[in-house]
Amino acid sequence: MSDNGVADITILGAGPAGLAAAYYAGHRDASVRIIESLEQLGGQVAAVYPEKHVYDVAGHPKIQGTKLVELCAEQGLQYEPEVHLGEEVQSLAGVSENGEQLLAIGTDKGGPYLTRALIITAGHGAFEPRKLGIDGIDDWDGRGVHYFVREKELFRDRTCVIVGGGDSALDWTLGLQDTARHPIALVHRRDNFRALESSVNEARALEGQGRVRIFTPCEVREIHGDGSVQAVSIENTKTGDVEQVDCDALITLLGFHSHLGAIADWGLELHGKRQILIDPTTCETTVPGVYAAGDVAGYEGKITLITIGMGEAAIAANNAVASIRGEKVQPKYSTD
Ligand SMILES: Cc1cc2nc3c(=O)[nH]c(=O)nc-3n(C[C@H](O)[C@H](O)[C@H](O)COP(=O)(O)OP(=O)(O)OC[C@H]3O[C@@H](n4cnc5c(N)ncnc54)[C@H](O)[C@@H]3O)c2cc1C
Repeated sequence: MSDNGVADITILGAGPAGLAAAYYAGHRDASVRIIESLEQLGGQVAAVYPEKHVYDVAGHPKIQGTKLVELCAEQGLQYEPEVHLGEEVQSLAGVSENGEQLLAIGTDKGGPYLTRALIITAGHGAFEPRKLGIDGIDDWDGRGVHYFVREKELFRDRTCVIVGGGDSALDWTLGLQDTARHPIALVHRRDNFRALESSVNEARALEGQGRVRIFTPCEVREIHGDGSVQAVSIENTKTGDVEQVDCDALITLLGFHSHLGAIADWGLELHGKRQILIDPTTCETTVPGVYAAGDVAGYEGKITLITIGMGEAAIAANNAVASIRGEKVQPKYSTD
């Protein structure tokens, strides 16, 4: 780190957007510090869907989450930023040091870390899964109820019931075909799925082969088991019929509750409840010197995708560098 531990740019969160910001800032010869609350790099991709394939990141027709994270890390860390893992950012304050206006960042482990600019790439902040509305649902944690598929091997030869109507539920109904016992039950409370049409079509085709059972419009009403999950009762909400289905892994993929945590109290203007308002032409927030990119950054028409976050990271890093140096913003190509 440069002079007296003052970083040019501090990056809050090491998901795909944070790693892209680290790359661009390093490429522009800025000193960079990354602070990440998880013990690992890669954000949602590493934490939620490491084994899922991603098809829509530019330049990668099909890439597994883990591989994408590895490549993002290789690119993002090549200028050797200072990396703090397992440290949650909690406070932000303006300070003046030797006549220079700086930002001071406090974490649960310490600080203050001084920086000339901050790029917030905190994704959804701290997030937790939505749970089924069944009494005592938390008692089944670690006993057969799952909220993520982190390792496919965990489900080898298991009888799985997957609940949800979005991409994750469909992705894992397809993704566990080579691992779990057939048929994999897919339960959704509506007739129509929200997931990608091609995934839904594939699941319906597998149903024809006895590899998937689709229950709609249905809800899981009860979990049965002695010590661990052994079966679930599934109710058809149109007919009222209830069927008990064998199950030793109940995987509920109903999305997440998320909140920005302390970041929401820093006086940054928000966009809705979950995002920090930025000017998309600079990615600067309403507080000078504080930028945001990726899922956490909001504006009218925002689409939360990895590719978009990486683009915003480039805008944020280049604007932060230009602002620190008092220069005009201009691209510097990475080619020799
Ligand atoms: C199941 C699923 C499938 C998806 N599939 C695709 C897909 O196919 N294609 C696609 O483009 N997108 C997909 N997405 C969305 C994609 O994962 C996100 O758009 C992307 O991860 C956002 O990157 P990010 O860097 O902005 O945030 P994140 O990946 O959320 O990373 C943010 C990081 O910030 C850290 N953090 C948060 N608060 C703090 C704090 N206070 N202090 C320190 N660290 C903090 C978090 O721990 C996290 O590691 C999918 C998402 C999910 C959930």
